[in-house]
Amino acid sequence: MSVQHVGVIGAGIVGLAVARRITEAFPGTEVTVLEKEDRVAVHQTGHNSGVVHAGLYYTPGSLKATLCRRGMGLLKEYTEEKKLPYDECGKLVVAIDEAEIAGLKKIQEKSAANGVPDVKWLDNVGLREIEPYAAGVAALHSPHTAITDYVAIAEAYADDIRSAGGTIEFNFPVEGITQYNDKVQVKSNGRTLVFDRLVVCAGLQSDKVATWAGDDAGPAIVPFRGEYYQLVPERTHMVKGLIYPVPNPDYPFLGVHYTKRVHGGVDLGPNAVLAFAREGYNRTSFKPSELWETLKWPGFRKLAQQHWRMGAEEMAGSMSKSLYLRFAQKYVPEVQASDIVRTHAGVRAQAVDRDGSLVDDFRISKLDKVMAVRNAPSPAATSSLAIAEYITDELRSLMTANVA
Ligand SMILES: Cc1cc2nc3c(=O)[nH]c(=O)nc-3n(C[C@H](O)[C@H](O)[C@H](O)COP(=O)(O)OP(=O)(O)OC[C@H]3O[C@@H](n4cnc5c(N)ncnc54)[C@H](O)[C@@H]3O)c2cc1C
Repeated sequence: MSVQHVGVIGAGIVGLAVARRITEAFPGTEVTVLEKEDRVAVHQTGHNSGVVHAGLYYTPGSLKATLCRRGMGLLKEYTEEKKLPYDECGKLVVAIDEAEIAGLKKIQEKSAANGVPDVKWLDNVGLREIEPYAAGVAALHSPHTAITDYVAIAEAYADDIRSAGGTIEFNFPVEGITQYNDKVQVKSNGRTLVFDRLVVCAGLQSDKVATWAGDDAGPAIVPFRGEYYQLVPERTHMVKGLIYPVPNPDYPFLGVHYTKRVHGGVDLGPNAVLAFAREGYNRTSFKPSELWETLKWPGFRKLAQQHWRMGAEEMAGSMSKSLYLRFAQKYVPEVQASDIVRTHAGVRAQAVDRDGSLVDDFRISKLDKVMAVRNAPSPAATSSLAIAEYITDELRSLMTANVA
């Protein structure tokens, strides 16, 4: 007997890419995606910066490095095939003073090790040829870094799933998972579905859902809200593509950056502020039970002890437009307070281990008949098609194991 029915929890870009790949890799297998919202891409996928990362920063040999490189190529081909927006606008990573040169050199070494093509070191004159309004002592230029529309891509993956005979069940908040004999039972609102195998891609809820399938409590998701401003239309000419800072190597976040958007406009952000609710998109969003879950996770308490200063700075920047502006002016000095307006926010699902370390790489658990994505932060949207290949290859062993 072969595996006949695979369930995928989560209709974000990762879950949809996985379900789509299963329809290709295992013809004849039925695929059902279960999503608690009423449409695709409601959470991280619908609130990100829209950047297609080239793989500059990631530790060579890590899943992030390999799946980002492969994922970028696959995504470019996919957008061409489906006629979806893709603009290779290029990116500068800018060192604003001599103290940042060493960090920029490390990124240059990593990007070379990761095989990122055509990355160039620029001096202060060279960087202004690419971004005339930018300031800095040196920059790395990655000409193939691109921007796209991840919601449109998620919708296209969903269409592919349906065309291949798969199903997407919206308004299906999974509330429990039971593995028994050779089946996995999934419950929601009094309904029960039974699958042969299950893949959990639940983003901000991924730790909770994985524990229902028998996984460890750690790493736990700590939600970090990323708040954006945007340049007013009259000032968008100041940014041609993407202008990024040299990131602090202690954090997996890339720092507040200027981002050209594929449908027009320029965003500035995101910062990284502890969110008081997992799906808390406003500064006032607050869910006591979720905040309590975060506070009682030993890893969070260790993280807070080590990084309270950075946390306080991010919080201050979130409350004060002038602080946010001061940071933005380091990279584009002509930007004035009247040039930026507060817009949307996204919440990152950042996994934190019990010892307080922020999980840097993608992390995926195998739990008998279930695979669970435990950490898929940026660049997981860029990498989605490659993550889907990776999970499907791993799933192959679960597809044959235990099946009589
Ligand atoms: C502010 C921000 C900026 C970013 N910028 C970039 C970028 O420029 N480039 C890039 O490559 N990446 C970026 N990322 C990261 C990228 O967006 C995420 O890595 C990616 O979207 C993760 O996709 P996902 O499918 O795992 O999660 P999600 O998109 O969050 O989807 C998870 C889905 O699971 C569903 N779900 C959860 N629990 C249940 C349940 N119990 N039952 C049913 N359904 C459930 C949710 O409703 C949701 O739809 C950014 C992220 C953020 C937040």
